[in-house]
Amino acid sequence: MRIVLLGAPGSGKGTQAQRLQAKYGVPQVSSGDLLRDSVARGTELGRKAKAVMDAGQLVSDDIVLGLIRDRLRKPDAARGFILDGFPRNIDQANSLNGLLKELGQPIDTVLLLDVRRETLMQRLAGRRTCPTCGSVYNIHSMPPGANTCSKDGAQLYQRPDDKEDVVAKRLEVYQTQTQPLIDHYAKLGQLRVVAGEGALEEVFERMEAAALAKAVPAERVKVTARKVKSAAAKKKAPIKKAPVKKAATKKAAVKKAAVKKAKARRKPARKTAAKRTVRRKTAQRAVAKKKTKARRR
Ligand code: AMP
Repeated sequence: MRIVLLGAPGSGKGTQAQRLQAKYGVPQVSSGDLLRDSVARGTELGRKAKAVMDAGQLVSDDIVLGLIRDRLRKPDAARGFILDGFPRNIDQANSLNGLLKELGQPIDTVLLLDVRRETLMQRLAGRRTCPTCGSVYNIHSMPPGANTCSKDGAQLYQRPDDKEDVVAKRLEVYQTQTQPLIDHYAKLGQLRVVAGEGALEEVFERMEAAALAKAVPAERVKVTARKVKSAAAKKKAPIKKAPVKKAATKKAAVKKAAVKKAKARRKPARKTAAKRTVRRKTAQRAVAKKKTKARRR
């Protein structure tokens, strides 16, 4: 299993990647986690990345690519991987393609978790993390006043990049830099779109089903995925098949109307003929009556 998970921050990529990891035994490779680990260890790379991350911007491509390259070369990734948060722009996607060619491990599927913006805002700004074990909670689904990890009792904290203003920035960065990847992978026929709202288990089932289903054709992606407004998507807007279908429908409608008209024309004719018969028969009956009367007299 070699999967790339696409989706806005807060779409649930991390959570779903952990589930896939547990079920299929392939490692979740999260660029965000790798960067946070470097920050926590206080490496030079981590010091460079921290300010950029806290501002909600993207860390430079070579830093992230270096981390991903090292991670994918580890033995546990030889059986497959779930890439979470990487690639985040077209250059990274191209670099990834080169790296995977080198490793002889091409991508099987790209899964896009599709979630509305208001849901993303609520999930991210309400997120609280355990500093010790990394468990993630949300204030909207926690009992009021609770602020400790249910696993180890540590005081939960809000990631600096989960503050509301930074969240807005991260979503903007996603829209401008990462969303073009939706078109990119759709054109390659590798993209499958998954509705990312609802119970975790349901979303997971959808993800598994999508991983087994056929890829979504490029022209359907812009209908399904939200806010895809890249130039490429706009160019593709008049889907070729649609006018053909419309024309066919129009032709059928014209034919139907003509048949209806003809029927309508025939109907009164039949009615008139019937009326004429009735009138003729009534007249005949009247004549017969007169004749009978005359005979009686
Ligand atoms: P995440 O946990 O995936 O939301 O990532 C947290 C932060 O790490 C992002 O807001 C970026 O600053 C940085 N980051 C993660 N992945 C990448 C990437 N592929 N390219 C650049 N920056 C990244």
